[in-house]
Amino acid sequence: MTDNKYNTIIVGGGIAGLTAAAYLSGGGRKTLLIEKNSECGGLVNSFSRDGFVFDAGVRALEDAGIIRPMLTELGISLKIVKSPVTIGIGNNILNIENLGSLDRYGDLLKKIYPASSGEIDELIRVIRRVMKDMDVLYGVENPVFKDLKHDREFLFKKLLPWLPKFLFTVGRINRMNQPVEGYLEKIISDPSLRDIISQHFFRNTPVFFALSYFSLYLDYFYPAGGVGKLAEALVSKISERGGEIRLETLITSVRAGEKTLVDKAGEEYIYDTLIWAADLKAFYRLTDTEGLSPGIRTRFSLAREKMLQRRGGDSVFTLFMQVDEPPETFRKVANGHFFYTPLKEGLGRTHREELDALLSGPGIHDRQQVLGWLDRFTTLNTYEISIPALKDPSLVPAGKTGLIISFLTEFDLFRAVQNDGWYEEFVREVENRVIKVISGSVYPWLKETIITRFSFTPLSIENRIASSEGAITGWSFRDPVPVVNRIQVADRSVVTPIPGVYQAGQWAYSPAGVPMSILTGKLAADKVLKRK
Ligand SMILES: Cc1cc2nc3c(=O)[nH]c(=O)nc-3n(C[C@H](O)[C@H](O)[C@H](O)COP(=O)(O)OP(=O)(O)OC[C@H]3O[C@@H](n4cnc5c(N)ncnc54)[C@H](O)[C@@H]3O)c2cc1C
Repeated sequence: MTDNKYNTIIVGGGIAGLTAAAYLSGGGRKTLLIEKNSECGGLVNSFSRDGFVFDAGVRALEDAGIIRPMLTELGISLKIVKSPVTIGIGNNILNIENLGSLDRYGDLLKKIYPASSGEIDELIRVIRRVMKDMDVLYGVENPVFKDLKHDREFLFKKLLPWLPKFLFTVGRINRMNQPVEGYLEKIISDPSLRDIISQHFFRNTPVFFALSYFSLYLDYFYPAGGVGKLAEALVSKISERGGEIRLETLITSVRAGEKTLVDKAGEEYIYDTLIWAADLKAFYRLTDTEGLSPGIRTRFSLAREKMLQRRGGDSVFTLFMQVDEPPETFRKVANGHFFYTPLKEGLGRTHREELDALLSGPGIHDRQQVLGWLDRFTTLNTYEISIPALKDPSLVPAGKTGLIISFLTEFDLFRAVQNDGWYEEFVREVENRVIKVISGSVYPWLKETIITRFSFTPLSIENRIASSEGAITGWSFRDPVPVVNRIQVADRSVVTPIPGVYQAGQWAYSPAGVPMSILTGKLAADKVLKRK
């Protein structure tokens, strides 16, 4: 093969593309992974500034019966540490330790919302049932990562006895596919309580996915050195197996009829099979199907129409801070992965109707009106606070702490503010308010001890990862998702209308996150190998 000809090319060096490349490298195959940035990992990434290590994307990992089996199968040993979770509302702080913590969570809610005591019992009962279903779902290592031909013990003793339970559970999960907000309305009458439970989920998150979070809190773990170590380990595996990685290479066109990719500099790469492990809207925009059969071209344009009409899901605003205070001061309050809501009122109409009205009306051009809304939004919101040093003390200079504070937010808001010419100022205003709210509640010393701070907005995510609308887990749940969303047919999620071209990652299956991105990466790699 000439230099630019490959058996398989994978576009996108996020966790999905890295997984696919790790499985496809070696075995005499010529494999190339192409990534637009100067390092791989995408939304699984850690970076260092002045001796502080921060996680830029996901803050901790959930195994979900996927990550550990994948690491074992690839022969990767990753040093991991615990990532215990704390939930807090106002002064009520609860460390999540085990299944028993669910009852204590119920007690905490009852203390704050005594009038809803009976409804809270019902909520806890539903969450417990969802957790049982999660135990079934993730009860065996995902068979996609097992060698079923040779591992007979796994097949007969674990997988086959588990399958009927799995199918039964999947049926129940599919019946819990409606948006969490509507579901909660049926069982909880206090709108504030409903908000407190659901406001840190994406809009219209399927109820099963939302209420399974308690299981995920117990499942979280953290790679020593930062979440990005997972991506680094896969990069090393790809190189060890002889796979090629090309960084700082943005693919700008796919000539599917000629099986050719073109990058921003005009360089061409020829593939036999292709895995697109980046934003799917980009794939459908960049792909030219000339030269393919009329049937394929028709199917492709129908799929394109469907994809391009849909939006990426909610994005996130993240404030990173270097703080002159030792991690122990923070540990006295909560663990290093902390979901905190300062006030019990809940966001109410603030982040839904009020924001929609602001974005669609003239108010968006009135800075005072936008800042007034921002005051309410930041005061009433729920924050995900991550402190890497509380998981791995080596991630900060002695006596100091790195803090990552984030909340879900709208891409369109930041775009509108940018169009109005005050983006930088607005970002500062957001930072100031977050610091005020957190200093005024859970970490009173924070404001006075910040050494430096900076933030990533939905626009930064769009720029850096090339993710439509700055989405952090693929498609929005506000419209029907244009991809596979049922686990029993996850296998189909990686197929595109073009033979030999597959898709993987958070845009290929919904709902997604790190485990599903890894799973689709592996499924796509399997399809490539089967095809051969
Ligand atoms: C703050 C935050 C919290 C999160 N929390 C969780 C959580 O708790 N649990 C969970 O499971 N998930 C969570 N996620 C989501 C999870 O991180 C992502 O869903 C997952 O990492 C997506 O992986 P991916 O490989 O599909 O995509 P990406 O990480 O987006 O990777 C795509 C890669 O493709 C590259 N690329 C794009 N276009 C091109 C092109 N044209 N040419 C070349 N390269 C290109 C990009 O630079 C990027 O590296 C979170 C994410 C964030 C940001």
